[in-house]
This record gives sequence, C-alpha cells and structure tokens, in this order.
Amino acid sequence: MPCEPGVGRIRAQQTMSSVLIHPTEAGVTAQNYINGEWLASDSTFQSLNPANRNHVVGTVPVASRSQVRDAVLAAKAAFPAWKNKSWVQRGEIVDNLSQLIKRDLEELSRMVTIECGKPINEGRADVVEALHMAQYVAGLSRLPIGHAISSEIPAKDAYILRKPKGVVGVITPWNFPFAIPLWGILPAVLAGNTVVFKPSEETPIVAHKLAKLFEEAGFPRGVINTVHGFGEDTGDALVKDPDVNVMLFTGSLAVGKMIQQSAASEVHKFVVTEMGGKNATIVLEDANLDIAVNAAVLGAFKTSGQRCVTSGRMIVDKKVEAQFTERFLEKVKRIVIGDGLRDDVFMGPLISQEGVKKWQHHNAKAKEEGGEILFDGQVLTGPDHANGNFVEPFVYRFASYKPDTFCLKEEAFSPHVAIIGVDGIEEAVRVYNDTKYGLAMAVITEDYRKFRYVRDNADYGLGYVNLPSIGAEVHLPFGGVKGSGNGHPAAEGAIEAVTHKVAFTVNHAHEIVMAQGLSTTL
Ligand code: NAP
Repeated sequence: MPCEPGVGRIRAQQTMSSVLIHPTEAGVTAQNYINGEWLASDSTFQSLNPANRNHVVGTVPVASRSQVRDAVLAAKAAFPAWKNKSWVQRGEIVDNLSQLIKRDLEELSRMVTIECGKPINEGRADVVEALHMAQYVAGLSRLPIGHAISSEIPAKDAYILRKPKGVVGVITPWNFPFAIPLWGILPAVLAGNTVVFKPSEETPIVAHKLAKLFEEAGFPRGVINTVHGFGEDTGDALVKDPDVNVMLFTGSLAVGKMIQQSAASEVHKFVVTEMGGKNATIVLEDANLDIAVNAAVLGAFKTSGQRCVTSGRMIVDKKVEAQFTERFLEKVKRIVIGDGLRDDVFMGPLISQEGVKKWQHHNAKAKEEGGEILFDGQVLTGPDHANGNFVEPFVYRFASYKPDTFCLKEEAFSPHVAIIGVDGIEEAVRVYNDTKYGLAMAVITEDYRKFRYVRDNADYGLGYVNLPSIGAEVHLPFGGVKGSGNGHPAAEGAIEAVTHKVAFTVNHAHEIVMAQGLSTTL
C-alpha cells in the first residue's frame, strides 16, 4: 500500500503557514441566519486557527435564547408551505446546493483546514463527502417514498407513506464541520421538515459559509436557520424548545446523554444521538502485517486521532505483537506534524488547548495505570509549531489485557494509542467489547472464517476487514450501538428519523368490509 502524504517521510522543519494563509481568509464576520435575515447578537466570540492561534479566522455572534426562539418560530412558520412542495421540488434545491459546493470546493476545503486544522487532503475529503450527500439526497427525491402494500380486503388499497415531523434541531461537532451538518440537514429538508442548525463553537466560520450557500441555493426563508454560540446556552435553548420535534445530535457521549435526558420529559420529541467511540483495530495471528500497520496508522492518526471512529486500541495477537509493534513504531516516528495547509503534513494540530490538556490527561493515566510507554509523545513548541496546538503521537503497551483502566476504556479523541496483547480471536473480541461504546471495528485477517466470527460477535455499527477503522460513504449507514448511538444512522436511517411512517387505506367498494372478519352488521 503506498504511503499516505506525510507518512514515511522525515518531519519537515520549515514552517509555511504564514505564506499559505490568503489574506481574504482572515477575519470573516459571521452572522446568525434567521428567517432569511443575517443577524448579529449582543455578544461575540472569536474563532482561532488551531495551527496558529494568532490567526483570528473570524468573529462570531452568540445567539441569545430569544434569538434561538425566533429561529424555531421562523422554521415553524416556514413548515406548512415547505412540506406542501413535492419531494422533487425540494430535491431540486438540494441539487442547486450540490452545484454550489462543487463550484467552491477548493475554497471550502481550505477553510475547513484553516478552522479545524486537519490536513488539506482531509479538508477536501470533508467537503467532497458533503457534496456526495447533497447528490445522494437530491437523487433520493425521485425514488419511491413509502410503498403500496396489499390489504386483507380485496377492495381496499393500502399505502405506507412518510410525513415530515416539523421543526428539526441539528447540533453538530467540529471535526467534520462541513459534512456532518449536511448528513442531518439535507435528509430533514428533503422530507419536508424545516431546520434550526447550531454548529460547533470551534468551527463557526465553516458553518457561516454553509449558511451562505443555503441562501444562494434558494431555500425559502425560514426553511434552514443557523444560530451560533455555545452548547450550554445556545444549544441548550434549541434542545429544550417546545416547538422542536426532532433533535439530530452528533457529538460526545456526555452531551448526548444530557440531551436524551432533557428530551425524555417531552413525549413529542424524537432524539437521535450519534456519539463517540473507543474503537479498535484487531490484528489476528494470520494478518498481513503490511495491511495491519498501514490500517493502524490511518485508523489512529488521521485527523490527529480526533475522529469518532479513531482506533485508540490495537488489539494484537501475542504471536505477532512484537513484529507488529516494531513496524508500527517505525511509522509513528516518521509522521510529519504541522500546519494542514502544507502538502507533506500527515497530522495537523489538535482543535484546542483543551484538546491538548485532554490528551495529556489520558497519557498520564496510561502511565499511572501501568502502560509500558513505547513512544512518549510531547507537545511541540519549536519555531514550526509555536502558536499551534501540536502534539506528537503517544503509544503504550499492555502485554496482557488490564480491565478496569481509564486509559483502555475512555475516548481520548487525540493521538493516544494502546497496543494490547491477546491470546487468540476469542479474547480479542472480549477485549474489544469491554467498553461502553460500540462504533467502529477493523479486523485484519486473511481467514474468512475468522472475520465472520468477529463480524458476528463484536459490538459495532461500522465494521471493516483489512481496512482502517475509519472511512464513510454517504449511502451506507453510519452510527453505533451502546454508548455510541441510539440506532438511527445516516442515509436512509436519517429519513426514518425525520418522518412519521403512516398507514393510509382507501376503500373502493360500495360497502364497508373490515379486516379480521369484523362484523359490520348493526
Ligand atoms: P461535544 O462537545 O459533545 O459537542 C457537540 C455539539 O454539542 C457542539 O455543537 C456543542 O456546542 C454542542 N453542545 C455542547 N453542550 C451542549 C448542551 N448542553 N446542549 C446542547 N448542545 C451542546 O463534541 P465535540 O467536541 O464537538 O466533538 C467530539 C465528539 O463528537 C467526540 O466524542 C466524537 O467521537 C463525537 N463524534 C461522533 C460522530 C458520530 O457520527 N458518531 C461524528 C463526529 C464526532 P459547543 O461546540 O459550543 O460546545
């Protein structure tokens, strides 16, 4: 397998971030987008480039609770006219959006990299994934919605139809700032719902650019509203608004749990929570080690380990652990870390100083809990990395599994990797399942009987064989089990979440004939 950009090369020393930031990319002023109007708020915050905190990417309003209420009321007012358009009419506006994304692909990709730090090939992949979702959703508009089904009574026609639920709140994380919002928003609006979107406070400028495209694509006023701000206030106001009928949340388990709890008291509210993971790559004794090592590097360090599907655990059969570990560490030492706008960079910065502290905390716990440290990654502070949130990978080992450890159970959301030695496939799966999460699992084996055992016995929503534990395609489900999600993944699953399935039956006879032989005689 060829090396990914940055892997297998010597760490470059020269910084290029100052010359690569185009002047027009600095200092965007974002606004809330409510009922087709661009609105400021009384207070603002700044979005900083994680590769260079001296670079203010933009200034952002903090939507007040009353502005969130206005946005929900605008969405509610727009709902009747929007739901009465045909699916095809709505799909055509989604198609307009896909064309605009294609037009602006490079500019949007750079903005994703500048605001959330991931290397430019990953910034581009984020936007391309969003484009694919827009294309997929536009295409869905011409496919069957529900279906006709036979009735027990010959003179009756029966249909299963889908109706929109009303106002949908969408709250998203920062790590796929362009794609994840569209995974929720587009199925919702295609089905005839209207939306209030609260993006992450870490990536508001990407969200602002997206809102500009919604306007240009021709979504009528009030159909998609964007409110900026902080989760505990702006987000909380959206979650608790009585006129929000569906909440589509993607983010951490802690926040998802809070959202589920607060919605539990409102019976009309349907909540979808897609959350984190403590994912793993399982390397079995017969694994092709070239594939195993490359899958492990990609699974652990893409987006600097800040993916919900990141493999923070390498569960390796003891028979090949020494070989695997030696080759994995060789690659780890050569990972290029720097500003994501540089083409040679494999790992960009962490999103924030809080992210760096969290990484340090997980590393400290691994040491305290007896992990054998194999690569003691440090915070990078040299001239190349001075003003960014740059850290190196941290890799440690447990020769045998140690249950009840924080480091092997909790999501680190950073380049923090444990190698765990196991005896055979059954122990591998037991160790894999021993967390509260169940999102992504990769197994490396040449034996089809073995991957079938893992397929059927591991808890996950996304399973990969001879691949890294990362990677999504918009037409496939994307979601987890246990603490990773409540089972309403993307694509067709998202349409399920934002619509009611209704039964609709029509009698064509001149008399009433009931099912189950029910008598109609008075
Ligand atoms: P996060 O802290 O849970 O935040 C997610 C979103 O929730 C943000 O918009 C946040 O706003 C908002 N929020 C925070 N507190 C809230 C509250 N009390 N009420 C309403 N909204 C609130 O997650 P993150 O740090 O952005 O993203 C990382 C997490 O997302 C990881 O756990 C990762 O695994 C998970 N993730 C899951 C998937 C998936 O598909 N399963 C995909 C990507 C990421 P602020 O930004 O203002 O705090």
